[in-house]
Amino acid sequence: MEKDHFTLWQEHKELAQKMNPLKGKLFDPIGPAIDKKTKRFLRFKSLFWILRQDYKEHLLITRKIFKKPFTYCLPYISSFIKNRPYKRRGDTFFFNVDSEKEFLEKVKQKKSVLFVGFSYCEKPFECPSNRFSTECAYDIESPICKQCHLAKVQHFLGKKAIFLPITTSHELGKRLFTIKEKFPKKELLFLISTCELAIEMFSHFGNMLQMKGIAIKLHGRTCRTMESFEIAERGIKPGKTFLSKEGDEQYDQLLRSLTTRKVSL
Ligand code: SF4
Repeated sequence: MEKDHFTLWQEHKELAQKMNPLKGKLFDPIGPAIDKKTKRFLRFKSLFWILRQDYKEHLLITRKIFKKPFTYCLPYISSFIKNRPYKRRGDTFFFNVDSEKEFLEKVKQKKSVLFVGFSYCEKPFECPSNRFSTECAYDIESPICKQCHLAKVQHFLGKKAIFLPITTSHELGKRLFTIKEKFPKKELLFLISTCELAIEMFSHFGNMLQMKGIAIKLHGRTCRTMESFEIAERGIKPGKTFLSKEGDEQYDQLLRSLTTRKVSL
């Protein structure tokens, strides 16, 4: 029986792992994904964090928001006052969609544009485009890329989505506004892999932009405190992060449904 492309991808990845193992161990510390002290007033901390970063960048985002206060402020406030502005099932968080099925149906619609985001800490230390960078020079022949989650997603989705390795939360905000302005009549959908702290911190901003989508939580050496988050936003992230087995399977299922083109390996 002919092997499917996902099985072949996995085999190529395992071979690359044997021949050129990447630096750094995959280690998932036990304990809560967000430290108890950090969790307190987190929505206010995230708001002040973004305002502080935006102030350093000449209020670029703030000015965009105040140009359309009703479009952006009302959804933000309505999300901010909710206890949980998402639905959660295990490692998967649903924003303004109830299920994978609803998300996939929306992606299929012509009026939608999909962006796929990745935390830079998911990249290997050896990434040829640098780890703390929004670039990805994916090369199918590279043994490093063959082991990288970003490569797999790009390989299977091709031009069906906008790829966005994320460095800082402010950079992400800027890019999302740019996409929104470029496609004013389209529905903005997202699929993102990031840590639970970032999901909690920035869920209201996603809702402010009325985005619909799915976030899958990363494990490993994720940011669990405000201190580690602030350091990571400066590009210092000594540990590796990765999807859990459950998250990886969930991602693969979505990828299979989103992939229609024939891919070769
Ligand atoms: S696929 Fe992109 S992010 Fe991953 S290692 Fe290659 S260049 Fe870096």
